[in-house]
Amino acid sequence: MQMVQKKRNEAEAKIIDGKTLAGRLRESIAHHVSVLVDDHKIMPGLAVVLVGDDPASQVYVASKKKAAEQAGMRSFVHILPKSTSQDEVLKLVKTLNQQKKVHGILVQLPLPKQIDADTVLKEIDPAKDVDGLTIANMGRLMAGLPGLVPCTPLGCAMMIKEVEKNLTGLHAVVIGRSNLVGKPVAQLLLRENCTVTMCHSRTQNLPHIAREADILVAAVGKSGFVKGDWIKPGAIVVDVGINRGADGKLSGDVDFESASKVAGHITPVPGGAGPMTVACLLGNTLIAACRQNELTVPHLG
Ligand code: NAP
Repeated sequence: MQMVQKKRNEAEAKIIDGKTLAGRLRESIAHHVSVLVDDHKIMPGLAVVLVGDDPASQVYVASKKKAAEQAGMRSFVHILPKSTSQDEVLKLVKTLNQQKKVHGILVQLPLPKQIDADTVLKEIDPAKDVDGLTIANMGRLMAGLPGLVPCTPLGCAMMIKEVEKNLTGLHAVVIGRSNLVGKPVAQLLLRENCTVTMCHSRTQNLPHIAREADILVAAVGKSGFVKGDWIKPGAIVVDVGINRGADGKLSGDVDFESASKVAGHITPVPGGAGPMTVACLLGNTLIAACRQNELTVPHLG
């Protein structure tokens, strides 16, 4: 609350630099990977499965592969044609579940329409589910048990905690209720003792609710959806959205120009949740490798 008051007379929000924060996290992960290799001869391995030729997915997969290799991990990329059947994908996931060198499995979404994403996700061994999307890991998050937490929500929580260490009693409003972002973000903030309000497409008086937020997380998928006058002066605003305009430019779900005049801290797009997501994926792969070998999970960050 204090930070909310502090901001009132300032002109521009401070940028939460996800890129720099992600760089720090990746350095820390790379250090722990080198220790794991030197002391235990274990090299964490990340397998990414891409079905089809969606250009955005191709870019994401390439950047995950590069990031894994830069962190000193093994990277296994499986690119399957768009016409691949669900059974073939399930067979590949089963094989990856068995491979000792693979500690983390990520199936890039969306999948072509003949493949049911839930059926595929169900097949991933929860111990290797570095995207945190299996029912087991979602349940663990809900129950407050250790598990693998979805990467984008984890990155959002880390960025918020970079601004404010103690979130107890703050009102967090999360716009969006997907399994991938909105629901796990809400759970993580609840774990930090926030009072959490979840909003979605049927929410009434959304601007009014958003204005009550000390922490506002936007995960809607609509460019510039959250306006500056929806924001409480001094609030922490995390923009998860990635929207590509006709000109190819990326924009977030928050109207940055108006929001940055009111918020206390704000994440940019690009350069906020995106790089943190990749860093958290590496973190999850390292955690998975440690747990699968019954080693202590290092503190990252
Ligand atoms: P999603 O599954 O499409 O969910 C969007 C959510 O927004 C839904 O819960 C929907 O409500 C809600 N919504 C839609 N219109 C609304 C409205 N008018 N008012 C209030 N709520 C509304 O999307 P997602 O997977 O959560 O992703 C959200 C955004 O984050 C996208 O732009 C995506 O590209 C981006 N993203 C970024 C990263 C990253 O690495 N930075 C990772 C994942 C996603 P209903 O449930 O009622 O339909």
